[in-house]
Amino acid sequence: MEKLHKQEYIEELVAKLSNKVLTEEFECYVYGMDWSPRTVEEIYPPDVVICPKTTEDIVIAVKIAYKYGIPVTVGGGLTGMAGGAVPVYGGIYIDSTTMNGLIEIDVKNQTVRVQAGITLQEINDTLKKYDLWLPHLTESKWSCTIGASIACDNDSTFGMRYGKILNCLLSAQVVTGTGDVLELGHRKAHFTSSGYKLKDLLVGSEGTLCVITQATLKVEPIPDVRLVEMLLLPSMQSAVDLLSSLLKSGLSIEAAHINCKKRLRFYTHAYRNKYGKEPDVPDWAQALLAVTFAGDKEVVYFQREYMLKKSNKFNAQAIEEREIVEGWWTSKHTLRFEPFRQKWPDSQREKKFGAADPGIPPGRLEEFYLKFIDTAEKYDLDILGMNVYLEHPNSLGLSLSCAVFVDYRVQEEVNRFRKYFKELTKTAVEFEGTMSTYMGDTNLKVQNLEYEHGKSTEYMKKIKQIFDPKSIMNPGKKFTTKIEYGRR
Ligand SMILES: Cc1cc2nc3c(=O)[nH]c(=O)nc-3n(C[C@H](O)[C@H](O)[C@H](O)COP(=O)(O)OP(=O)(O)OC[C@H]3O[C@@H](n4cnc5c(N)ncnc54)[C@H](O)[C@@H]3O)c2cc1C
Repeated sequence: MEKLHKQEYIEELVAKLSNKVLTEEFECYVYGMDWSPRTVEEIYPPDVVICPKTTEDIVIAVKIAYKYGIPVTVGGGLTGMAGGAVPVYGGIYIDSTTMNGLIEIDVKNQTVRVQAGITLQEINDTLKKYDLWLPHLTESKWSCTIGASIACDNDSTFGMRYGKILNCLLSAQVVTGTGDVLELGHRKAHFTSSGYKLKDLLVGSEGTLCVITQATLKVEPIPDVRLVEMLLLPSMQSAVDLLSSLLKSGLSIEAAHINCKKRLRFYTHAYRNKYGKEPDVPDWAQALLAVTFAGDKEVVYFQREYMLKKSNKFNAQAIEEREIVEGWWTSKHTLRFEPFRQKWPDSQREKKFGAADPGIPPGRLEEFYLKFIDTAEKYDLDILGMNVYLEHPNSLGLSLSCAVFVDYRVQEEVNRFRKYFKELTKTAVEFEGTMSTYMGDTNLKVQNLEYEHGKSTEYMKKIKQIFDPKSIMNPGKKFTTKIEYGRR
């Protein structure tokens, strides 16, 4: 982009949005990265950052971007693990976290209306006063925004009962790539058969169609009691089989996670620090199934006993030492970390990690687990382990986190990680699955998009054109957009 041109659009932004615009290089720098493995050379700061307060501020910014053909990247807490919010072509970055208001709580109808930059934790802090909660919660809930939860269709700790964000998103306000404001969805009704479901297109759109500015969400009453239990099993597949049997029996499981043995070590750092030893896990145990039950105390304890009775038939053994169970839960659910510090919290401080996020059918977990180990070894990466999130209400919807350690300071190691990432996600398609379950495609999976979606990729591009005729919305993500402006 020519310097004059760049100055012109930034001057117009400053004239219209004044102190909501950051232009200094040092201010823009921190917006050039998220939690994805990248070296310092791969940080892409935007030309300018907008800190909006209202939808109207975003309309102004997008209309200027449209006029000059400037890339627009919107981001939230910047904890995405695949570079979704990294402005790889520079341009305008919209920091949605300054739009973090709670607009309405409708207690009777159990809904909440929020601005898109509010974090999941902030929503729940307010809802708690009304004995309500939003059960869509990531482990990164302290910094993960609701806009990003919709945009990258992330996984929730409580997906086993409540599913993913689509299950609680009732409607949303968006600003398209031309600066139009649309309300998509069905107000406070839980579903609709009217029109096309454009609201559903937002889920997983990664900021490539529009900026999400507000959302109406279905929320739930807070349960009285929650109980966490962990069972040791001889294999990953036997954990799936046990879970299948528990669901068949009619138990109502609130959260379910399967970890391989290596991954447990990652979550029990606090235990090691306290006792100076590894948690006592027998050699035969290769997998863990962690579940929570929530509701009235009597029901919860009955379900626990019933689960233990059932699990005997699968050679499963409950972990008796509560400290291990509580430590795991704390690490997964009550963990706190500060965004932008780019380091792991106490329980996860050893090294940074990178993960692939494929989805596969439940009957092929063991087979895929071996493929994960093979692929990581092929690229000489230190294996952190597999976590399986269960994300479909009351059924076996597997979302995998296949994690390895990556030294972000070594370009050659980051490159090896990317090769591993591409190969493993592509393998998931060969396993009758999908490349991505919670990170989106970003710019890492673009070459494989057609491999997964075939001819329908062309229809996806046409849909993007309707929302974003000049291809300015988060260019380079999802599709290989041809870009004539900015830098690479
Ligand atoms: C310690 C840790 C724990 C994590 N735990 C989980 C977990 O349990 N489950 C899980 O799925 N992921 C997890 N993640 C990954 C990450 O936190 C999630 O993917 C989360 O959704 C990112 O939220 P964010 O606000 O930081 O988004 P960002 O990284 O800022 O953005 C993510 C994507 O959303 C788009 N976007 C953001 N806001 C908007 C908007 N308003 N309109 C349109 N597009 C928008 C961006 O352009 C980008 O493509 C974890 C990450 C870390 C570091």
